[in-house]
Formats: sequence, structure tokens, C-alpha cells
Amino acid sequence: MNFIIGANWKMYGTVPKASDFLEELLALGSRSVRSDLVLFAPFTLLPLIGETAAAAGIELGGQDLFWEDEGAFTGEVSPGMLREAGATWFLAGHSERRHVIGESDGTVRKKLSKGLQRGLKGILCVGELLEEREAGRTEEVVKGQIRSALEGLETASAENLVIAYEPVWAIGTGLTATPGEAQRMHSLIREWVEGIRGVAFASGLRIQYGGSVKPDNAGDILSRPSVNGALVGGASLRSDSFWAIVRSVPDGE
Ligand code: PEP
Repeated sequence: MNFIIGANWKMYGTVPKASDFLEELLALGSRSVRSDLVLFAPFTLLPLIGETAAAAGIELGGQDLFWEDEGAFTGEVSPGMLREAGATWFLAGHSERRHVIGESDGTVRKKLSKGLQRGLKGILCVGELLEEREAGRTEEVVKGQIRSALEGLETASAENLVIAYEPVWAIGTGLTATPGEAQRMHSLIREWVEGIRGVAFASGLRIQYGGSVKPDNAGDILSRPSVNGALVGGASLRSDSFWAIVRSVPDGE
């Protein structure tokens, strides 16, 4: 299975910046890597950078979506709108959506389910808060997020779904889980997914690590056997550091 490296730009970026980023990646060799590369840019940039992204061999994703196709939902963006804007991927349940905007597990489930039903590929983000980790609740929290999102989910195939394990205390803080901790959580996640969706689904599922992934720690994290990629925030804003992370994927990928 290919590794998948995502660049989550959050609420940063302009069209010229995104175009430069994509052109720089093309010049560095982005078309020749086997890993799937996805840029999660702000909605407003997506329709304006599609051609440059396609030339660089990089797919586009929305950072969020809404669970209805249309209607009186001021400020929201539907899966169809995302597709029309050129996205093939979306994020569901990023920790900033859960903990800054206040999205519940139920909301995340509805978004994941609708986005997949409408033909987009989804990354379900899960992860524990610092206080949950300190209270010894990491496994309970992450397992609960996964069960809520995946139990009874109708249309998911393992090809269209990725799970990103992103401990919230590691996002944007410079702290990371050790490669050993990431490996342990990823294999637990695969075990839990197997319990919910069966062995074939679980073994085909890609699990990314996210949380202050940088050029100097990416190689160690990505070389763990249960880690199939990375979701990168801060270090994805520059092509050189994002490229260094892409190049850290173990040989042959
Ligand atoms: C993220 O936004 O998903 C993320 C992991 O951010 P950072 O790499 O900056 O911690």
C-alpha cells in the first residue's frame, strides 16, 4: 500500500503561495514519488490551484465538509461543492474542529459518512487531549472516537478511508509521541478497526501519524511498521520541509 502524506494548511495561505508551493514540489520531483500526496488547503484556494496541483501530481482536499447536499446552512460547504472545487479528499474530526469549534463524535460521524457516500476519500482524525492522556484514558478516548465513526458506516472501503492518529497535545506544540508510542497506538487502532470492520478492511487501512511531524523526526516515525503516512501541519507550509518529510518515507515508497 502507498504511504499517504497530507499537508494541512489550516487557515493559512494565499493563491500565489499555494501555486509557488506546488510548483516548487513539482521541481523537486513530486511526480516521481509513490506516496499519495494531498494538500488540504482552505476552501477558497481549491478551485484556483487545481491545475497546478494536478501538474505536480498532488491531490487536493477540503479541511471539513457538511453532511447535507444543500440547504439553509449558512457558512457550510457540501461534499458536492468540494468536488466541484477540485477536491478528492476531506478531513473529518480534526482536533481543531473537535476542540476549538466544538464538534461532537456524532457530528464527525455524519460528516465522514456523507463525504464517503458522495465519492470523496476521507481522513478520520482521532486523538486524545493532554488531560485524557494524563488520566490514563488515551485508549478509551481514541477507541470511542473510532467506534463512533466506523460502526455501521455504510459505504466505506479501506481504499477510501484513512485514519490519522493525532494526539492533541502534539499538534502545533513541537511535542511528538515517540515513534514507539505511535507504533503502539497504530497497532491498537488497527486491532479495534478489525473488531468493527473485519480483518480484510483493517489490513488494507492506512493509518497516518500527526502531531509536530518535522523533517528531523519523520524518518523515525515513518519507519515503524504500523505507520502508513503522516498528516503534517506547520511543517507543510514550506515546500522544503514538506518535501523533506515526503523523502523520509522508507525506501521503495
Ligand atoms: C495537524 O494540523 O493535523 C498537525 C498535525 O499539525 P502540526 O504538524 O503543526 O502539529
